[in-house]
Parts: sequence; C-alpha cells; structure tokens
Amino acid sequence: MTAKDRQLPDSRGYFGQFGGKFVPETLMSALYELEQAYLDAHADPGFQQQYHQLCREYSGRPTPLYPAQQLSAKIGGATILLKREDLAHTGAHKINNALGQGLLAKRMGKTRIIAETGAGQHGVAVATVCAMLSLNCIIYMGDEDIQRQSSNVFRMKLLRAEVRPVSSGSRTLKDAINETIRDWVTNIHNTYYLLGSVVGPHPYPMIVRDFQSIIGQETKEQVMTMYHRLPDYLVACVGGGSNAMGLFHPFFHEKGVKFIGVEAGGQGLETGHHAASLVAGRTGVLHGTKSQLLQDKSGQILVTHSIAPGLDYPGVGPEHSYYKDIGRATYVAVTDAQALEGFRLLCDTEGIIPALEPAHAIYYAAKLAADLPQNQLIVINLSGRGDKDLDIVAKAIGMDL
Ligand SMILES: *Cc1c(COP(=O)(O)O)cnc(C)c1O
Repeated sequence: MTAKDRQLPDSRGYFGQFGGKFVPETLMSALYELEQAYLDAHADPGFQQQYHQLCREYSGRPTPLYPAQQLSAKIGGATILLKREDLAHTGAHKINNALGQGLLAKRMGKTRIIAETGAGQHGVAVATVCAMLSLNCIIYMGDEDIQRQSSNVFRMKLLRAEVRPVSSGSRTLKDAINETIRDWVTNIHNTYYLLGSVVGPHPYPMIVRDFQSIIGQETKEQVMTMYHRLPDYLVACVGGGSNAMGLFHPFFHEKGVKFIGVEAGGQGLETGHHAASLVAGRTGVLHGTKSQLLQDKSGQILVTHSIAPGLDYPGVGPEHSYYKDIGRATYVAVTDAQALEGFRLLCDTEGIIPALEPAHAIYYAAKLAADLPQNQLIVINLSGRGDKDLDIVAKAIGMDL
C-alpha cells in the first residue's frame, strides 16, 4: 500500500472527527506499544511476505471474483460480480484479520491471545489461527451467546481454545468486551488482545483495515484483468465494518468508484429494532472510539437487533463515520425480511448459500442493478457462507431442518 493510502488516521488515531483512544490510562502504553510494533511490521517486507504466503497457502487466497451471470440475467440490469470471501478458510473474511494479528502477536513475543466474540465467528477465526501458530487462546463469550451458538463454541474447543463464559450484564457481546479489556489490563505483559473488526481504540481500526484491504487489492487487480477498467459500485454489508472497509479502502482515491455500505435494518427502522448505526445513529463514544452509535437521548446504548448475528452491534468503525461525513460512501439499511429475499435469490440463481450478513448487500445490489445499464459493474463483497445460519433461516421461513 502506498503512503498516500495510509494518510489516515492521523497521529492521534482520528479519521476527521472520529476515532481516537478513549481508554483508561492503564491501556495507553499497551496501545502505544501495539502501534509501534504494527508500524514496524507493516514496513518490514519479511512480515508482509509471511502474511501473504499464509493467505495463499493456508486461507486459499486470492479468493475468486465471480461474474454472477445468472443473477445478473435474472435482474436484467447491471453486471454483478461476487468477491468470494465465503471461499476463504473458515468460510468468511474474518480469517484475513485473525491471521495478520496472530502473526503480529507472535512478532511482539506475546504467547497468550484473548478475544471476545458475539456469534462466535470471530472466536472461531482466532482459535483457528492460534492453533496453527501455537499460541494460547482464550475467548470471552456471553452466557446467552454460548447457549445460542453452541456449534461455534464446540468448534473453538476442538481448536483447543478456552471459552470463558461471561455472566454479567446482558450476557452478550458488550459484556464479553468489558471482560476481555479487564483481562488485558491485568495480563498486559504476555497478552495480545485480538480485535475482530475496524472498531475499538486506535490503532485497531487501522490495523484491521490494513489486513482486510487484501480484499479490495485483489478485487482491483481482478476487475482490471477481466474488464480493463475499474468497477462502478462496491457494495458490502456493515456490522463493525471490516469486510466493507477491506473492499472500499484500496479504491478510496478512485473517485469514480461509488461505495455503498448496507446496514441491518432489522424489523424496520421505525420499530427501533435494528442495528443501523450509520443510518440512524448519533455521534458518541463506545468501546474506546468516537463514532456513530445507537443510543438514547441520555447516551445509553440501545439494544440492537438483526437476523444476521454479525451485524448485531450498536457501533461502527470510525472510518465509516468519516466516509459518511465527507460523502465518500453512502449507507443504507436493509430489513431482515429483505435480507432473506437476498439470501434466497442467490441460492436460486447461482447455487451459492450466502451468510445472512452479505445477504443484506445482495438484496440492495440487486435492487440497484435493476435500474442500471448492463455495462455498469457492481462488486458485492460476499463476506461469508451461509452454513452457520441454516437454523436461523429454517426458523424464519418456517421450514423444518
Ligand atoms: C462478522 C461478519 C460480518 C460483520 O463484520 P464486519 O466487521 O462488518 O465485516 C459480515 N459478514 C460475515 C460473514 C461475518 O462473519
């Protein structure tokens, strides 16, 4: 990546007015140590080579850019291409970041990795990488989420991670995050906190973005080779925002390429049961960073809802808030019901069962494509495969498994 692409965040970790480091004093030196180690690794060709080699040989990169001809024909508008992150090892883009940070932890001499997980997808990616790199792995997970995601808990255990239940608060992701931070403060000398999206205090949004940017870098090369030009639209779902930022960021300076981030509209924005932080949120501070948040008038964080477990988070990465602010990206919301339509559309036309998160992007891109001429190119980031969501889908469409 060129120096120009890495202009932001600034030295204080800000993307415009968003980002920063809102953490207790005890974590400031750990974040500084992490930033220095990361910048050093980033500039080291040996480290980059190791990361890219494992992406190739272990994760199966580059993932294909697939022209979805049947889907495009059915819609009868623009040409739709799918960036197949569902074909990466463990079935989603999360491995790109887990692998990069796992290598960074090793380089820093840390032997103990901690992470928090909601639905379990990030936990599985971290446990996978820790098993491969011989690192000790502890995953914090809310009691409630452990009940709901038992197969992912079993996967993590098979990968010899320790899953620690969190029974405080709402017993879900945000309580697991608090517990992970508590552990980090106590064990900072040998412990690496492996964050899973472009959220949290600086330097995490930058680190996760850079490791996920492999998605957009490959897409750029692939689309140039296939069509000898850049795409017109990039469409990706946004939970914390890592798969979207990974696709968008390498195109930041290509002004003709439009970015669309698709958030979880849940049961509809008007019901309040959704997770659309950029579309419906306000500026605030959560988990160490300033960004757009779903909060009530007194600043209390709202309970979110989405049919897609990976989109069910009240905040979003600060760089997305910045992209929205400067008009570089547009953010929209797609409801649970619409996402299910997107899910079925891809099953029917292409024989690909998508995860419920990118099903939001599929629905929106299909609507967009219908009104555009065939020579327009739309890339959808197919961030993950649907195997993990079969129970949820069966229940939603009233089918028995
Ligand atoms: C976790 C997850 C997401 C949401 O996370 P981002 O950081 O917004 O990318 C999206 N898709 C899949 C398949 C996921 O597992």
